[in-house]
Amino acid sequence: MNISHIEHIGIAVENLEESIHYYESVLGLKCYAIEEVEDQKVKTAFFQVGGTKIELLESTSPDGPIGKFVAKKGPGMHHIAFAVPDATEALKQAENSGVALIDKISRKGAEGLNIGFLHPKSTHGVLTELCSKEK
Ligand code: ZN
Repeated sequence: MNISHIEHIGIAVENLEESIHYYESVLGLKCYAIEEVEDQKVKTAFFQVGGTKIELLESTSPDGPIGKFVAKKGPGMHHIAFAVPDATEALKQAENSGVALIDKISRKGAEGLNIGFLHPKSTHGVLTELCSKEK
């Protein structure tokens, strides 16, 4: 699927503001964007770290995917996102390799990226996102 780099690492948090404060005041990173992704029921905050990003995710609803994750496992590492040239194509390739998909075709994620998730039961426990820029 021609992965070029780690696009971002997603981290589930309970409180976006407090988490941003930690990343800025302790780690010295700068939050450059806050965005709500309504269909995922999350508010996201982004930090550039070299060629990759940190994506903080706070749930806007207990029944959203991040709300359920935090209720079950607590806050922490949520997913890793790899950059690929074409997310839908990469999802198809993964499916052809027998990987269980959460998204059969890519959909719109934060920052206007096309994104899709592989199921952690097929990826050795790591929720894996594939993302590509709009062509
Ligand atoms: Zn992500």
